Amino acid sequence: MKDILSMTLDELTADLTNEKPYRAKQIYSWLHQKRAVTFDEMSDLPAALREKLNKEHIICRLTAVKTLVSERDGTKKYLFELPDGECIETVFMEYKHAHSLCISSQVGCRMGCKFCASGLDGLVRNLTPAEMLSQVYEVERLTGETIGSLVMMGIGEPLDNYDNTIKFLTLLSDKNGKNLSLRHVSLSTCGLVPKIRELSKLHLGLTLSVSLHDSDNAKREDIMPVTKAYNIDELIKACKEYIAETGRRISFEYAVIAGVNDSKTDAERLIKLLRGINCHVNLIPVNNVSETDFHNKKDNVKNFEGYLNAGKIPVTVRRTLGSDINAACGQLRKQRTEDRRQKTEDRRQKTEFGINDC
Ligand code: SAH
Repeated sequence: MKDILSMTLDELTADLTNEKPYRAKQIYSWLHQKRAVTFDEMSDLPAALREKLNKEHIICRLTAVKTLVSERDGTKKYLFELPDGECIETVFMEYKHAHSLCISSQVGCRMGCKFCASGLDGLVRNLTPAEMLSQVYEVERLTGETIGSLVMMGIGEPLDNYDNTIKFLTLLSDKNGKNLSLRHVSLSTCGLVPKIRELSKLHLGLTLSVSLHDSDNAKREDIMPVTKAYNIDELIKACKEYIAETGRRISFEYAVIAGVNDSKTDAERLIKLLRGINCHVNLIPVNNVSETDFHNKKDNVKNFEGYLNAGKIPVTVRRTLGSDINAACGQLRKQRTEDRRQKTEDRRQKTEFGINDC
């Protein structure tokens, strides 16, 4: 079966060579503008074509199996089940100017950042372009709202799923589809240097966020193993090239972790590293993940912000939306995987001991 929602208009046109030339555009509009979820809804297509599409193509759909709503700020966190039963998380945030969505790019992650819940069990698989796009379409369907900006900061490393990510961005910004300007998109990476270079050549206009979290190489290696493959010097060099190539400012993410990277010395080293670079630092109060012992400390984010301000580095503190709903990415999926594992184990024991469910 062909994954029709992952196809660009050109690919769909090539796929339908025996049909009238305008059919591809018609179907594309049904999928990406009218958001049809079945071929039977496509009422202006001949029945024979609908039947053929039904036989040869599937329209990717996600099922919300759990929704958490923040009582504090209305943030909604969805646990979506994919067609093969795997799960991912998507977060819908309401801002004054526009609704924003944080999407996942992989099931799990193989980058192994020590403070992150998403990678605790490694990578399961990449998401398809359709599975990334469906997070947008499904949330718009469920909320009745229009997503005006998007961040790729959910589960996964988008640049480790490079081709599908680029295709997703192409579909998302297509004027025949959702038509979201990539100026309203941020892509976050832990620092895959060759892919940052590749991305810069595409001039997509998006904001690149680089998860830095430490300015000392040995310390960064401890919390972010990717540093062993691409050290801080190489990463910063690639970032400078990215800025020169695209003319866009880079945003460096820095999760402030008590006793790990929050001292005045850490801030001074960071200031030295970033001085003169067209960038901005986004401080994130680290989210506690029960499996790790990284935690936040009262005032450490504020103090760190003060050090950076004194060093004239542009800095903001990320608003913590949905703090009452387990907002650290990967936590909800992890819970679900554990619940399922427990159920399988219970079932195994019941079978072993001859107990039957029905
Ligand atoms: N793989 C990408 C995008 C996903 S993570 C990346 O590394 O950038 C999105 C952001 O959340 C990253 O900056 C990541 O380092 C951060 N993050 C992950 N776990 C966190 C936690 N427990 N507390 C604070 N930030 C966290």
